[in-house]
Amino acid sequence: MAKTHKITLIPGDGIGPEVSGAVVRVVEAAGAATGVAFEWHRHAAGADAFEKTGEYIPKALYDSIEENRVALKGPVTTPIGGGFASINVTLRQKFELFANFRPVKSLPGLKTNYPNIDLIIVRENMEDLYAGLEHIVVPGVVQALKIITEKGSTRIAKFAFDYARKHGRKKIHAIHKANIMKLSDGLFLQCCRTVAEGFPEITYAEHIVDNTCMQLVMNPYQYDILLTENLYGDILSDLCSAFVGGLGLVPGANLGTECAIFEAVHGSAPDIAGKDMANPTALMQSAVLMLHHIGESETANRVQTGLEQVYREGKTLTKDVGGTSGTKAFADAVLAAMEMPQ
Ligand code: ATP
Ligand code: MG
Repeated sequence: MAKTHKITLIPGDGIGPEVSGAVVRVVEAAGAATGVAFEWHRHAAGADAFEKTGEYIPKALYDSIEENRVALKGPVTTPIGGGFASINVTLRQKFELFANFRPVKSLPGLKTNYPNIDLIIVRENMEDLYAGLEHIVVPGVVQALKIITEKGSTRIAKFAFDYARKHGRKKIHAIHKANIMKLSDGLFLQCCRTVAEGFPEITYAEHIVDNTCMQLVMNPYQYDILLTENLYGDILSDLCSAFVGGLGLVPGANLGTECAIFEAVHGSAPDIAGKDMANPTALMQSAVLMLHHIGESETANRVQTGLEQVYREGKTLTKDVGGTSGTKAFADAVLAAMEMPQ
């Protein structure tokens, strides 16, 4: 009998429903071929949820994640300036998803300016300026608080080093601006150094964030794992995504001790929403991370192999990576590739 996994699915808004629709089709097919079934518990979040329930994150969604412990999430729009607090940030806080894991890896056959990229961003996910503590001091003067703690910094550093040891990665760079933010980024570095002492086989180095941007563009191959605070990690993720073909490709995992939420690095891309143009690869690769996380590596490999086959052939790609196909046609191609003998 097929094993059934219960997964909370947040389709999201903007391109969210299109990319998550494509991903669910592919994961279902891969599961069917490998004896794994899925029960998707669908929940809205953000403006959509507010319209239906009067809450931006309905209690039923919280309960569902708490119960299933695993969620696959499409992008949910965060209003700029005013409006409600970021749904993404709120969920990360609520479930203590302190680690944001973002592997940036070249896909076979896809031509970019930087071939064979394989680097990982490990981003602290709960602190820093993302704590959202802002206030008006006097009219015309606003203060935002950057929160960096010993606990938060130590546990993200530990996460990065543990991962490196387990997966044979060689080098970790802590990214900072401790020359200016001597106390906050200074504490972050101090914690990274202390953790690094326990991992003598892994090379540890520190780079200042602005220099890192230049170094990355000059020679990304000098990096292996980038260990960052929350905001630097956000910015460097978008930069690094360009090495492998852009935001349509890079997956992510928000990990805590209890639950995990898998989501692409990209946002809701309102400029291309509803046009069958979005590249579902980033969310598809997030689903691959999720399948490994729940112990279904055979299903994960089936999706990844199908996906890579479509890139290797290069005939059915979306516009963002130089193709002419739509979201649906791309998903169809992955489904067809998964049918071929592997
Ligand atoms: P957020 O604040 O949520 O991180 P953002 O401002 O970084 O969002 P995105 O929504 O990620 O913005 O979009 C940035 C650009 O990348 C847009 O031009 C968008 O069309 C493009 N883009 C993002 N995701 C995809 C995708 N899956 N496929 C194709 N293009 C994408
Ligand atoms: Mg962004």
